[in-house]
Amino acid sequence: MKNVVVIGAGPAGMTAALYLSDAGVGVTLIEKGMYGGQMTTTARIANYPGFVDVAGWELSQHMFDQLAAAGVTITADTVTGIEKSGEGFTVKGINGSFSGDAVIIANGVTRRRIGCPGETEFAGRGVSYCAVCDGNFFRGRDVAVIGGGNSALEDAAYLAGICPNVYLIHRRDELRADEKYVRAAKSKENITFVYSHYPERIIGDDRVSGIEIRDLKTGEIKTLDVSGVFVAVGLDADNGGFGSLVDLTENGYIDADESCVTSCPGIFAAGDTRDKKLRQIVTATADGAVAAKQAIEYLNG
Ligand code: NAP
Repeated sequence: MKNVVVIGAGPAGMTAALYLSDAGVGVTLIEKGMYGGQMTTTARIANYPGFVDVAGWELSQHMFDQLAAAGVTITADTVTGIEKSGEGFTVKGINGSFSGDAVIIANGVTRRRIGCPGETEFAGRGVSYCAVCDGNFFRGRDVAVIGGGNSALEDAAYLAGICPNVYLIHRRDELRADEKYVRAAKSKENITFVYSHYPERIIGDDRVSGIEIRDLKTGEIKTLDVSGVFVAVGLDADNGGFGSLVDLTENGYIDADESCVTSCPGIFAAGDTRDKKLRQIVTATADGAVAAKQAIEYLNG
């Protein structure tokens, strides 16, 4: 039986695995963390068709259950690269190597860091990249959220439900987030919008006790007393391990269009990892189906 290695068990990878399995193709689905990808760190999802409003973890579970019912299992490993091996490929992981006649890369994206002093030092001790995962540790305490996109506004609105004061710190005067996220955050009285400010330094002793922010118009620096800093400044591609086989864009995304076909025959890219305009769960699942179909056609010669 032909086998396809799918890297990543987010919505794109799980859908690709499902379509491959349904077509009678062997699947090795590799995931380094929890299945579901970014869905697991999203509080509520209200724009995935078929669900009026669903928790991120719950939608992940539904997708996993469907996969499990099809007999697909997930192998835990962190993929570091892909090598050509005869007619097929060897996908290298930290724990093992996996052979495939074709490969679908659906590894998603990673959370961007701000890069200010204190960020790395206090990671896990007051600095967090996931409000849904860590918010409860800050119940009853004041926190700051950095960023002006959908994630930051969504995180701020979520944290406003459990923290007395939430400061939304954004580097511009204008938010990038969609109107519905802005409306939801602005309806919370305990969110203070701090525009045109940049994180200068995260401070504390053992844990975070505050954040110094710089007014980008006047240069003035002030300190906000907060116990938590939630960073939501966007996402970066993490495709360095694949760059020797597939072309990447200048931003590091895999250079593949809606067909999910990469520059290397036999390797396909699905979901947020490829160069695309709209990064959503629904576009990731669509990519998963397309990539699986392309892989099947490739295997059939
Ligand atoms: P994003 O849309 O790229 O926004 C990142 C925000 O962080 C921007 O406001 C940006 O400022 C700011 N920023 C970037 N680098 C920074 C830095 N070094 N220091 C300070 N601020 C910085 O990222 P996102 O909000 O994580 O969203 C990522 C993707 O997921 C988007 O496509 C988004 O639509 C999607 N998403 C969808 C949903 C949903 O539909 N349910 C929910 C969440 C996210 P500027 O505005 O000045 O560039």
